[in-house]
Amino acid sequence: MLNAYVTTDDPLHDFFEDDRRKEEWLKGRPVCASCGEPIQEEMAYMIAGEYYCEHCIRAAKTYLPD
Ligand SMILES: [Zn+2]
Repeated sequence: MLNAYVTTDDPLHDFFEDDRRKEEWLKGRPVCASCGEPIQEEMAYMIAGEYYCEHCIRAAKTYLPD
């Protein structure tokens, strides 16, 4: 997870610093093979060596009537 960011007495600096750290954190995350978004959850699905996010797995769920 994200580390708690260091606060200074400059709220604007803290805001941008937090944003920058989050972006850096996201770059280190595995990317969903379907939507291409970094997976932010602690759990993901791995299918045939590729990561898939929860959203894409749900979207892929198909009803198969008898
Ligand atoms: Zn996805």
